[in-house]
Amino acid sequence: MHDLSRCVHHPAVSHEGFASLAVPTYRASTIVYEDAESFARRKHRGPDGYTYGLHGTPTTRTLEAQLTALHGGGRTILAPSGQAAIAVVMLTLLTPGDHVLIPDTVYGPVRGFCASYLAPRGIRFDAYDPMIGAGIAGLIDERTKLVWVESPGSGTMEVQDLPAIVAAAKAKGALVGCDNTWASPLLFKPLSFGADFAMEALTKYVGGHSDLLLGSVTVADLALHRRLKDTLRMLGIGVSPDEAALALRGLETMGVRLAHVGRVALDFAQRLSRSPLVDRVLHPALPACPGHALWKRDFRGASGVFSVVLKPETEPRLTAALADLGVFAIGASWGGTRSLIAPMSVTAERTAVPWTAPGPILRISIGLEGIDDLWADLDQILKRLEPEAVPNVA
Ligand SMILES: *Cc1c(COP(=O)(O)O)cnc(C)c1O
Repeated sequence: MHDLSRCVHHPAVSHEGFASLAVPTYRASTIVYEDAESFARRKHRGPDGYTYGLHGTPTTRTLEAQLTALHGGGRTILAPSGQAAIAVVMLTLLTPGDHVLIPDTVYGPVRGFCASYLAPRGIRFDAYDPMIGAGIAGLIDERTKLVWVESPGSGTMEVQDLPAIVAAAKAKGALVGCDNTWASPLLFKPLSFGADFAMEALTKYVGGHSDLLLGSVTVADLALHRRLKDTLRMLGIGVSPDEAALALRGLETMGVRLAHVGRVALDFAQRLSRSPLVDRVLHPALPACPGHALWKRDFRGASGVFSVVLKPETEPRLTAALADLGVFAIGASWGGTRSLIAPMSVTAERTAVPWTAPGPILRISIGLEGIDDLWADLDQILKRLEPEAVPNVA
């Protein structure tokens, strides 16, 4: 063999005795075939066969299979972000003239996708009250193909009655998809409540380290899986095995991370609800949270994200109060090891149910820092929000 050939032909080495616990990261565009005939017949390999790197590698398939098992589903597809996963579901089901229902509290960019991408292409959407429950029946018309659910809702944490929505949608022939990012399959399994699609932004708790973007959709019905795969193929959407490998690693520790952040978040939610500067704490495990009884009925626990509605008089001091935090960072895309705080304004994003609380909202995502350090930050924020607080001197 010429040296130039040696450069591109990797010698076969023994794998015997090599039993690693890690999932190998298989990178591929080309997949080679044993002969010309199997190459010619590659389209017949089915949804689980390997044909081209874009359509899956053993690394991405391992992640898919693991999520499928956690959800008790049939198959899972991966997309390059949570937002892409939602868009793929909608593009798979909806054609011009169709109608989709989204909760008023939906992850903001989903409303943007409906309004600025689907609507100009003749696909109608309506936002509904997340607490509507069985009343959703009144909003489903003969062209409604999908009812989207996100529970709890972005920013304001309303827990939805998924079984009631599923029953109403099924009766009218609409499918139901559920954004399960907050709970992860450890705390809620949408397919077991009748949803057709269980979607997660793996970017959040599965990834768990703020360093990857990935989304997933798990289905029970293999025909739906095939349709989702067709959309991915036609749009040329695939995911990197490196991202999948990071998600596989994150998944291994997700259980202990969620248990920890869930405990700390609930403790802080209870402490914050006792502050006179706080109007309401929106945490599904607290009775003041809309849908608290549904959360108790359907969920196995709470994760580490909740919101605090402050009294309106704190508003002028909020920016200063959020300066010089010791451990919290200010930012979105929660679910990592670092605790985050994000001032939210939801008023402009609500069309079905006007948001009337006049005070500012803080969304808090608990990470893995020391509990005393975290509380010191929150305590400092509260102190600086007090009317008689001395302005911080730089
Ligand atoms: C972050 C998030 C998404 C989008 O995930 P990306 O991977 O950032 O696109 C979707 N839904 C919910 C509830 C989210 O929090």
